[in-house]
Amino acid sequence: MRTQYSTRPREQVSAILKREQRYLSAAEIHGLLRKSRQNVSLSTVYRTLDLLAGKGEASARVDAGGETTYVVCDQTHHHHAVCRKCGKVQDVSCEAIESVASALRTHHGFKLADHEMQFFGTCGACK
Ligand SMILES: [Zn+2]
Ligand SMILES: [Zn+2]
Ligand SMILES: [Zn+2]
Repeated sequence: MRTQYSTRPREQVSAILKREQRYLSAAEIHGLLRKSRQNVSLSTVYRTLDLLAGKGEASARVDAGGETTYVVCDQTHHHHAVCRKCGKVQDVSCEAIESVASALRTHHGFKLADHEMQFFGTCGACK
């Protein structure tokens, strides 16, 4: 008889993140796993999220309540557009930042080396 070990927590957790495409806390992921009858302990979820974030497969963000939340992400440089209504996170390319970088250089003599940015608004499905 096959045991449950064939699906590892890492696959289960990243499957949830890929399906939801929004920032989720460990507790929320744990709840979603339970709802689909997947038995993973909360501490395993925490450990798995740490692992995924360490490998660059998920991106972490501390929300307004101080809780760390995660979204699935690839490693190439990009930005996030977060829907304030449904929480959906879309990956956005960095092209718009180019003009900001050149304006900083021209007007302030400032050479931009790095930046972090997130966009908040309403997604196409929610408008
Ligand atoms: Zn991303
Ligand atoms: Zn939305
Ligand atoms: Zn960028």
